[in-house]
Amino acid sequence: MTILARGRVHTGSRTLDGWALLDGSRVLDVGTGAGPAADEVVTGAHVVPGFVDVHCHGGGGVSFGGTSPGSWVEDAVRVADTHRAHGTTTLVASLVTRPVDELARVLHAYADLVSDGVLAGIHLEGPWLSPQQRGAHDPTLLQAPDPAEVGRLLDTGLVRMVTVAPELPGGLAAVRQITAAGAVASIGHTDADAETVRAAVDAGATWATHLFNAMPPLHHRTPGPVAVLLEDERVTVELIADGVHVHPLMVSLAARRAGRDRVAFVTDAMAATGSADGRYLLGDLAVDVVDGVARLADGGSIAGSTLTLDRAVRYAVTTAGLDLDDVLPAVTSNPAKLLGRADVGHLEPGARGGAVVLSETLDLVRVLS
Ligand SMILES: [Zn+2]
Repeated sequence: MTILARGRVHTGSRTLDGWALLDGSRVLDVGTGAGPAADEVVTGAHVVPGFVDVHCHGGGGVSFGGTSPGSWVEDAVRVADTHRAHGTTTLVASLVTRPVDELARVLHAYADLVSDGVLAGIHLEGPWLSPQQRGAHDPTLLQAPDPAEVGRLLDTGLVRMVTVAPELPGGLAAVRQITAAGAVASIGHTDADAETVRAAVDAGATWATHLFNAMPPLHHRTPGPVAVLLEDERVTVELIADGVHVHPLMVSLAARRAGRDRVAFVTDAMAATGSADGRYLLGDLAVDVVDGVARLADGGSIAGSTLTLDRAVRYAVTTAGLDLDDVLPAVTSNPAKLLGRADVGHLEPGARGGAVVLSETLDLVRVLS
């Protein structure tokens, strides 16, 4: 079934007042004027590419790799559906720190979902993280990277990204191993100094897991990870633009400093996204969600978000004061580049990532996928 989406079309390489014609998630053509005949016509203020989220743990009440193995696949589909309803048509499943044996089992269970395109790959967030910057990760399961264990998970061919604290013993070797396997090494949950972070980038790391969160803050005498990750042109930085994780001024500071090609907005969403407040699990840890803010029941650390990418876009424009055309690459082409996907994250003919129709106030009108 063909749908003609009318409005200001932001293809990723040009912006035109006109239309995009899609068949399912496939872009058939874009143009100006009234546009061709279609089975259905949807009109909005903006037509933008389907969003790409490379850091997401859950939604719709369930998590990736949750506590019931019997429903891992069903739950993953539910998470993907929840985020698709908010414009995310390409989604990476992030797994929190678990025993390596269990991570291997989850990867095995997700193999078909990755080959079917329900998931765009897996992001391992742990267990190779700093105990000092663990955030909501189970401290008893954190460890220094062991090359055999890293290799075992990479060998599945399903892992697109691995977050690693480079200061751990074997941390830099792990960065090299991850990169050599064709996955992306992302610096995060780290207590490293600036020099160690620079060494990790030299070793091949090209991504920063939720910049500012779970790392030492920017300080004028000890610049730490943040300064290197923002300054180094080889690195793209994730930001959680939900109004909770990062102050809007820091969102704008980071986005302007890194520039439109080096920022990715991610949700880091947990199970409560698109669901009710209450008690949830992140890994084995209890999380209480109050007014949409998720915190560990024990200690109060922020434990993921309840963000969706449509809201991140709206927040970045209306609250952080960024231009829509500077924000869109952060939810489309930049994360698509991480995935090595030329077929998603834009709206030129042949693209397969669907489209999102937004109103003048950037509220969601329709997701075409
Ligand atoms: Zn995360």
